[in-house]
Amino acid sequence: MADSNNAPQADPFIMSSWPHGGTERVLYCPVCSSENRHLLYTDLTDRIFYCAPGRWNLYECLKCGCGYLDPRPTQETIHLAYQRYYTHKIQTRVDGNLLVGLHRIFRALTNGYRNWRFGTEFRPASKIGIFVLWIVSGTRQKVDREFHHVPRPSPGAQLLDVGFGNGYFLNLAQAAGWKVSGCDTDPVTVASASKNGIDVRLGGIASFSNMPESFDMITLSHVIEHLHDPRDVSREIYRLLKPGGMVWMETPNIRSYGHLNFGRHWRGLEPPRHLVLFNWNALESMLEGCGFRDVKRLPLYDLYPSLAAKSNAIASGRDPYGKNLSKPRSRFMGFLLNVKTRLHPEKSEFITLIAHKPL
Ligand SMILES: [Zn+2]
Repeated sequence: MADSNNAPQADPFIMSSWPHGGTERVLYCPVCSSENRHLLYTDLTDRIFYCAPGRWNLYECLKCGCGYLDPRPTQETIHLAYQRYYTHKIQTRVDGNLLVGLHRIFRALTNGYRNWRFGTEFRPASKIGIFVLWIVSGTRQKVDREFHHVPRPSPGAQLLDVGFGNGYFLNLAQAAGWKVSGCDTDPVTVASASKNGIDVRLGGIASFSNMPESFDMITLSHVIEHLHDPRDVSREIYRLLKPGGMVWMETPNIRSYGHLNFGRHWRGLEPPRHLVLFNWNALESMLEGCGFRDVKRLPLYDLYPSLAAKSNAIASGRDPYGKNLSKPRSRFMGFLLNVKTRLHPEKSEFITLIAHKPL
């Protein structure tokens, strides 16, 4: 399905090598520890943000089906892959009141649902939205995902967002009544968020290692695939949760229709920032191995067109975040794949789930 009008252009930055001594071998699967594997792709390069040097191999674990880079950047050098990645800007406004016309009506309907479902008090709002979004399930899914499917908090309930990025979700959760904390490896975004009075720390989840079990909910949106030690981090998440607490995760699915159709050009691969690519069963098994139970799958059904447009751009050497990426034929194929994903949710573009720490 990939367009082939424009041949990929050689990028002198990508042609350069990762610094000598800045990589490490990964001889067993970071998810299940199996040594059985086969080589999926060689010579993968950063065709998304064009900021990471080097060429990368992706292996597929023959036991659990996860993908992983070998070799991969070390913890000490991985920052070289993020030079044009960070958003830096903190997004503080979660709602607007200057909307007009149809936008205002749409916002009033979605706010009506948001306020009812999550306990926010956004304006403008219409309670008719509760009924409308019950029917329009695609929009309801988007709103639920925007809020990371959080339940309404009990008084004083604490939420930790690992890798909070631009802080948009932290602000939403705070507006819904959660006492929020966050950590991120971008010093600029951490400094901005701390000015807004939120408990944020620089680094990964280890920056909260001095705390006992404290949180009712921990969320990781497109974070777990960036980590060198996803199992250790999952164990630490489990430790930091109160009994009965829950973790919410979202990450690309290596067994998605997008990967099946686009292969090495699939947007979700993102070498070398994505060190591990999960599938539904492998992520669930890893979490259950850490003690989590009662996993709830929350697949999204309408992501294929967006991922396909970006993957097409990557395949033809264009900027996947450029303009006019989507063509009528692609949009039609995207619609068909959305329908197909409803029938086969295990092939959704992303894995989105909630898992519980037993009481
Ligand atoms: Zn494995």
